[in-house]
Amino acid sequence: MRIAEIHVYQMDLPFSGKAYRMSEGSYTALDSTIVQIVSDAGVSGWGETCPVSPTYAPEHALGARAALNQMSAGLIGMPVTGPLAVRRALDRLLNGHNYAKAAIDIAIHDLIGKTHGIRVCDMLGGATTDRVDSYYALSIGEPDDVARTAVEKIAEGYPRLQIKVGGRPVEIDIETVRKVWEATGCTRLSLDANRGLYARDVLRIGRECADIPFVFEQPCNTMEEIAAIRGQLHHAVYLDENTEDLGDVLRAISLGVCDGFGLKVTRLGGLGTLATVRDLCEARSMPHTCDDSWGGDIIAAACAHIGSTVQPRLLEGVWIAEPYMDIHYDSDNPVRIEGGRIRVPTGPGLGVVPDEGVFGEPVASFE
Ligand SMILES: [Mg+2]
Repeated sequence: MRIAEIHVYQMDLPFSGKAYRMSEGSYTALDSTIVQIVSDAGVSGWGETCPVSPTYAPEHALGARAALNQMSAGLIGMPVTGPLAVRRALDRLLNGHNYAKAAIDIAIHDLIGKTHGIRVCDMLGGATTDRVDSYYALSIGEPDDVARTAVEKIAEGYPRLQIKVGGRPVEIDIETVRKVWEATGCTRLSLDANRGLYARDVLRIGRECADIPFVFEQPCNTMEEIAAIRGQLHHAVYLDENTEDLGDVLRAISLGVCDGFGLKVTRLGGLGTLATVRDLCEARSMPHTCDDSWGGDIIAAACAHIGSTVQPRLLEGVWIAEPYMDIHYDSDNPVRIEGGRIRVPTGPGLGVVPDEGVFGEPVASFE
């Protein structure tokens, strides 16, 4: 099998409800990039990458499309022996830009799976479950409003809640955390600052919420800031945005900077790399999520597949953007959260086949 065509599409993903607010910004729509890789047998594999915004992380949508344009011509005619060979070819074509390479990596997994009738989760080692736990991310808001939403989400069946914090007076974050805890009694709580808290405020939240069993997720901007205060914290610390590649994950584990991770498929470079990180986490008994920053059914399916292969006791959940949007790419097999869990798609490859024409005309094509 060889790569015969690559098509790149752009898709706007508007939110169905209120703006989504994190420590560094508020969003009402996101810009996703979709990749279709067509084999010489006419089979299509689909990938996607959707950075949150140009300021959330070093990744951005225009950068993804520029990187895909840079790499795609060099892939035409290449034999597809396996995802690893393609990943190495991508590194020979462009330095960095893991998030763009991830879209190709996901599409190659899908293409191989669809060609041979294998699910992506089985290519990644085998699913341990047919449904993975998700968790709900509570956007920054007024404490009473956040607590009310938290109660609703627990009633819907979510086993875990993530509370966004940072970017405002720390007293309001502390009030929010306490109200969510008192309203739900949920013992699987994460406080995610998306790098947005000062060490001073992390220490204060830890002190004033010492009785609440949460984990801090990416509380400060850098690994060094977190390492500096870690000895003073009684809550566990997870890293998210500071893990830009496999080397960062290795560094964090070997330095003992954290107790677990929020992991993103595209930031790390795709499903193959995330499977390696999954195995490192299993070797060191470190819990983690399998998420992405944003995206539609393709990303959601990729997250569900890799999440289903994680040791269940180490999986902190699979977050997908589906509850915040009305758009589905595959109207027959949409990836959805039901009762706080996601059914792992059952079809070959990712188990998602985008509806004809759903992405419009490609913004770039290579053949
Ligand atoms: Mg996070």
